[in-house]
Amino acid sequence: MKTTILGYPRIGSQRELKKANEAYWAGKISQKELLKVGSHIRKENWLLQKNTGIDYMPSNDFSFYDQVLDTCLSVGCIPKRYNKLKHENQLDLYFAMARGIQNEDIDCTAMEMTKWFDTNYHYIVPEFEREQNFEFFSSKIIDEYKEALELGIKTKPVLIGPVTFLLLGKEKEAGFHKLSLLDKLLPVYFEIISRLTSLDVEYIQFDEPCLALDLNEQERLAIKSSYEKINTKFPNLKIFLANYFDCYGDNLDTVLQLPINTLHLDLVRCQLQLNDILESKNFNLTTKLSLGLVDGRNIWKNNFDDSLQTIELAVSKIGEENVWISTSCSLLHCPYDLDLETNETNLDPEIKQWLAFSKQKLQEIRTLKGLASSNYNEFQNEFKENKQAHANRKTSLLIHSTHVKSRVLALNDSYSQRKSTFKNRQTKQKSALNLPLFPTTTIGSFPQTKEVRSWRSKFKKGILSPSKYDSLIAKETKESIRFQEEIGIDVLVHGEFERNDMVEYFGERLNGFAFSSFGWVQSYGSRCVKPPILFGDVSRESAMTVKWSAYAQSLTDLPVKGMLTGPVTILQWSFVRNDQPRQITCNQIALAIRDEVVDLENNGIKIIQIDEPAIREGLPLRKEAWKTYLDWAVKAFRISASGVKDETQIHTHMCYSEFNDIINSIAAMDADVITIETSRSEMELLEAFVNFKYPNEIGPGVYDIHSPRVPSVQEIEHLLLKAKNVLPKEHIWVNPDCGLKTRNWPETKTALENMVKAAKQQRELV
Ligand code: GLN
Ligand code: ZN
Repeated sequence: MKTTILGYPRIGSQRELKKANEAYWAGKISQKELLKVGSHIRKENWLLQKNTGIDYMPSNDFSFYDQVLDTCLSVGCIPKRYNKLKHENQLDLYFAMARGIQNEDIDCTAMEMTKWFDTNYHYIVPEFEREQNFEFFSSKIIDEYKEALELGIKTKPVLIGPVTFLLLGKEKEAGFHKLSLLDKLLPVYFEIISRLTSLDVEYIQFDEPCLALDLNEQERLAIKSSYEKINTKFPNLKIFLANYFDCYGDNLDTVLQLPINTLHLDLVRCQLQLNDILESKNFNLTTKLSLGLVDGRNIWKNNFDDSLQTIELAVSKIGEENVWISTSCSLLHCPYDLDLETNETNLDPEIKQWLAFSKQKLQEIRTLKGLASSNYNEFQNEFKENKQAHANRKTSLLIHSTHVKSRVLALNDSYSQRKSTFKNRQTKQKSALNLPLFPTTTIGSFPQTKEVRSWRSKFKKGILSPSKYDSLIAKETKESIRFQEEIGIDVLVHGEFERNDMVEYFGERLNGFAFSSFGWVQSYGSRCVKPPILFGDVSRESAMTVKWSAYAQSLTDLPVKGMLTGPVTILQWSFVRNDQPRQITCNQIALAIRDEVVDLENNGIKIIQIDEPAIREGLPLRKEAWKTYLDWAVKAFRISASGVKDETQIHTHMCYSEFNDIINSIAAMDADVITIETSRSEMELLEAFVNFKYPNEIGPGVYDIHSPRVPSVQEIEHLLLKAKNVLPKEHIWVNPDCGLKTRNWPETKTALENMVKAAKQQRELV
């Protein structure tokens, strides 16, 4: 039996790589110093795995920015706009592609970035042109393999497979299909493989997570022919084929016929496929199976009892020598090391005993191998401790609340139903709120200046007293209200100055959430996030937002919108529990948010926005599973929104999304008003709503908040006219694309003034 992992986090246990990258970009350290940090991280990772007893360690899982961008460089897939940099320093070219570059000599936009499957990790999207050529360009894979050899470690280099690489990219010109580039791409893969085999490489790990998606016949053929060709050229190479995040599904028959040595299975996401494979008549009993038992996407301890049963099943059919134990996917999506969490005020020891971060997961793999093979006795203590932790988790009072559970059980349709239809609500709201045509509003947050952030951090450290902190936030809130009144916004916001992050803020105030101190995971490039740990039944101790919303409302006669994060987004951006279905957890959050919505209403708030920017990214990878997800996600939103009277107007907000294929679910959310990001696409994203004849009110974003550029009145009017042409005018709201927390005040002020002017001019024209 062998052990392996698919990849290890690379940002550094103290986020060294983040810091070094940012210092390098700011010109504060030399490239040599940056490279040193990289090689130090790789070395630490390998030695840790080696000392833990991992048999096949990955290499090339390290990246200075992103593994897909690394692959672009490996195969020379470099968009023409960077040609000037192509023969300069390779790392600088690499960062220019990732981040864009602007100086006297060159002005190039960055490559596009998008989410890696259903994770919160973002990869750089490869760009292809009709006459695309590939060449062996960066020797990173070879270099890192050699680097490990020098440490006495023979690694299993990781490569993104050719088909997944092509499918992840985008045609930048019309007239060809990206898969047609395969014949040009494969020779470069051959060259990489040949360089590696000449260094005596035994295994190469090809990641083909596209096998977790619905593939068509042509795409499956591409998989088949790629690996047949690789095998023909390199008959002695042992191919380790990895798919993760979902089952092989309909792609299984194709996969079982491939000439590969080891097939990896994500048994966390798709437990049943092991049986399917072992029973399949196409399964060649000499193929090794890598059992991805240890969850690479979540932070819970592995359940040794369950895993051992699975291992036993595999061993009984194919023999110990053909079984590998591994992580479900790369550990990239897990934090580094639970041992760093020494601060008991943050992470209760009772909770900590249920968790395993990357370093602990290595140990779990080692222990599972020990328990499943001859050294059973040596690992008895670990086994016992594991059983105890799981037993404790089943009954812990920290987790289980009968009150919360029975509330969820008692949910019925009346909870997810507003009292009247939208049309009736709209009439009542129009007379209750008395807003002009094309009402103006913003999405919630105002600039989080250095001072605002410093108040929060000083308050957290105890340097600022609660009363001093409150008075500072109150002053900032008041100024924002006055500003909005002055420039003539119709529906105001309080500004969210008291909030660190739209999920963390609520997590910190809800039962059932815990926070680590060092649980960082890479989101993209040097950006890391520290997702809350949703460990228990969720409930609300007391009001979470009423204080600041009610305070803001007390300052003005205009309506101030209450501002909440929706249940699906809170779920999606946390590490969620694996001891109950996501849907139940989501309903628990929905009920807590519902209580808050009702509280806001009782405290005089007439408009409440429930943000759901993450609804779309929660979609399962396979279409057949979409409906189930969308049904419960929409329902959870409706539970959160439906506790109020007809006159209270519910808004929702979504961004970074395409809406076409989920528009009926968005409509089914039945928010009175939805605000969306549309300006960057020149209102293209609005089409889905128009074609669908979206029945409720809608605020298509009229300016891009990701850029410091201030839009002119004319530009905004131009977008507004576009909206007016396709939507009933009584349904149109005027607002920016998203919250303004990343902007500064001067540009925000001018931009919003222009926005109000544009709306007023349109009003006069009616
Ligand atoms: N209300 C949040 C804000 O304005 C919404 C953020 C988001 O959609 N990502 O910041
Ligand atoms: Zn947004």
